[in-house]
Parts: sequence; C-alpha cells; structure tokens
Amino acid sequence: MEKIRMITPLVEMDGDEMTRILWKMIKDHLLLPYIDLKTEYYDLGLMKRDETDDQITIDAANAALKYGVAVKCATITPNADRVKEYGLKKMWKSPNGTIRAIMDGTVFRCPIIVKGIEPAVRSWKKPITIARHAYGDVYKNSELVIPGKGTAELVYTADDGTQTRELIHEFDGPGIIQGWHNLDSSINSFAHSCFEYALDAKHDLWFATKDTISKKYDARFREIFDQVYHAEYENKFKEAGIVYFYTLIDDVVARVMKSEGGFVWACKNYDGDVMSDMLSSAFGSLAMMTSVLVNPDGKYEYEAAHGTVQKHYYKHLNGETTSTNSVATIYAWTGALRKRGQLDGIDELVSFADALDRAVIRTIEEGFMTGDLALITSAKEVTKLDSEGFILAVKERLEEEMNGI
Ligand code: NAP
Ligand code: MG
Repeated sequence: MEKIRMITPLVEMDGDEMTRILWKMIKDHLLLPYIDLKTEYYDLGLMKRDETDDQITIDAANAALKYGVAVKCATITPNADRVKEYGLKKMWKSPNGTIRAIMDGTVFRCPIIVKGIEPAVRSWKKPITIARHAYGDVYKNSELVIPGKGTAELVYTADDGTQTRELIHEFDGPGIIQGWHNLDSSINSFAHSCFEYALDAKHDLWFATKDTISKKYDARFREIFDQVYHAEYENKFKEAGIVYFYTLIDDVVARVMKSEGGFVWACKNYDGDVMSDMLSSAFGSLAMMTSVLVNPDGKYEYEAAHGTVQKHYYKHLNGETTSTNSVATIYAWTGALRKRGQLDGIDELVSFADALDRAVIRTIEEGFMTGDLALITSAKEVTKLDSEGFILAVKERLEEEMNGI
C-alpha cells in the first residue's frame, strides 16, 4: 500500500516521561508505516526547555498559530522536586499555560466512550464536552482581610482621573473581601471558540452562569455570548441543526445529570475547573479523556488530558513492564490528523484517523486493554496488555479496518 501523503506539516510537540515513550511507540507502530508523516518537530521535553530557556515552547506555540494544527505530548510542569531532579536553571512555567497564553484559546475536554467502561451516571450515552474559560475571575483575584470596623468599596479610576465607586460593605467588625475581573476581549474569544467547536463537532452548546445574582458581572458573560451568537452563529447553527442554550448554573447541573450527553458545556473558569474533574471521574478514567485547545481563529492544539504518568516511567526505567493507557494520546494524533486532512482536503487522512479511532474502540470492546481499564471494566473476558502490547493489538485491528474487513 502506498503511504498517505500530507501537504501541510503538523506541529509536533514531544514531551516527557512515560508519555514520551508512548509517543514514539504510537509513531513507529501506528503512524509511520501508513502515512508519509510531515511534522515540524519541537522537543518540549524538560531538558530541551531548560537548554533553550523555554524559548522552544514559545516557538512551538507560534508554529501552531502559523500552521493551524498541533499535537502535543504530556509534559512535566516543574516544581521544586523537578528542579532538583533535572538540575534545572529555574522553575519553568507550565508549557500548557505558555501555549494557551500565546494561542489565546479555550480548552475542550471530551471523554472517549467504549462499551464495558460505563459512566457512573446511567443516563449518559454520549460524551459531554467541557469548555473551560481559562482567564480571570477567582484565578486573578485580589483579597483583603478586614481587621475591623470600616468601609470597603470597589473603586475604578479612569485615565482622566474620574472615579466610580460601589459600596461593598460597611464593616462593624472583622471580615474578608475579594475583587475579581474579566475582560470583554477574553469573554469574546471564549464565546467564539465555543461556537466554533460546537459547529465543528455538530453538538448543541450549553452555557450557564449565575446572572440572576450577579446582575452585572455574570450578566456580561451572557450578553457577550448572545451578541456573538446573533451576529455570527445563529444561521450557521440552524443550518447545522444544532442549538445554543443558555440557563443558570444550578439548573444546568441538574439537567446534565438527567441528560444523555452529546453536547458542549461552556463553563466560566471556576465552574470549569470543578466540573471537568467531576465529569472525567464520572466517565471512568482520566486516561480516556481527550483535550483540545481551540483559539478564536480556529487554530487547534490536540493532547491527552492526563500527565506524564511519572510512576509508570520509573517502573519502565527499572526494567519492569508497564501497562500505560495510550488511548488519549492516540486520539490526540487522530484528532490532529483528521483536522489537517479536513483543512487540506486529504480524504485518505481523514479516513485513516477514523479507522484508527475505530480500531482503538474495537480493541477495548473485544476485551484487550491496559491495567487501568481492566480494573474498572464490566466486560467478562479481559486480557490485560502491557503498554506496547496494547498498541500492537490496535495495529492488528487498524490493518483490518483499512482493508475494509
Ligand atoms: P498523571 O500523569 O496524570 O498520573 C496520575 C495517575 O493517574 C498515574 O499515576 C496513574 O495511576 C493514572 N494515570 C494517568 N494517566 C494514565 C494512563 N495514560 N494510563 C494509566 N494510568 C494513568 O498525573 P501526575 O502523576 O500527577 O503528574 C505527572 C506529571 O505530569 C507532572 O510532572 C505534571 O506536571 C504533569 N502533567 C502534565 C499535564 C499535561 O502536559 N497536559 C497534565 C497534568 C500533569 P496509577 O499510578 O495508579 O497507575
Ligand atoms: Mg482542577
């Protein structure tokens, strides 16, 4: 068989530890034999970031903006232990944070659903994608402990010196206060990313805040979503047969629990932080969760939602066999290849990505899986495979899928 040709390179961001080992296995067994893989390679492994004073991360993010589609391996975000372990020059920032700041995107997380790994919520039949706004609110707050009697106010001083004030509270005794902010530009980008993603996935979009209580702050989020929807997306949504639906955060939580899934749930920053952890554990496993950063101009960066699986890596270094789940990392690749294929009009690349996804699902549904899933599956006959064994089992089925068997 001739290898599938590509036109535009994918931006490939390599990473750390166990996921770096999986990365190479996936390329060697599942991609390179079938695709004339074109990538612009950036090594975001911790040593390379240290060596380049993290310039490599910035270059990789700019390349993602230039080419439009990137695929990223999990990377270490250094803490004090890692600085010692790797002898780093400094405690470099989270690569994901750096990339997000440059691409100005929203992160969408979506579970991969297979038979045998049942969601904790019985009504969920289809995936629920969480879109988390990644700027402002409590994550950029200012706080004060109020020691005693006095007046607390919000004060805005315009450039011309005029001031606007709003009373927070007349304190009779000790207490606390906190100030938050957000930006119209950031909310606007968030809204665009959500509408674009929903259109792309052909899923309804749900958005919720608490604008009955927060009549200016949360109301601004609702207004901006409304404006963007009516100005740019109303017709596109109608044509795609999907719906934009706004409600209150407490109402949406109740609806999500009774829904069958199959929609995108846009969340403010804090709501997204909390709800995405609830959703990923309720769907079964972090190793079955994909993640994609979408910027408002429709540039994409695909990755797995989990980290570098450090404990497995140390076992691997000790020469022990590991059983690390590569599904989310394989899906990061198929997501990126499919998007590249769509943008460049290469149908074979899109079909290949679909076939590889099907092969992954079949492998698990036929009872062949890694240890994390073997522990939680409801399937009766289960064969637990090691890290490479699972990828080879997927390869067998990929070849069948490609031969149309
Ligand atoms: P982690 O890598 O997600 O792993 C936590 C635990 O979850 C593992 O020890 C393992 O449990 C289980 N697990 C996660 N992914 C798995 C997989 N693919 N297959 C099987 N089991 C899996 O989180 P961490 O250990 O807290 O963090 C390790 C490093 O990852 C850190 O340096 C952190 O900075 C980085 N990180 C990177 C990203 C990213 O690049 N997007 C995200 C999060 C964390 P058992 O040990 O019980 O098997
Ligand atoms: Mg969290």
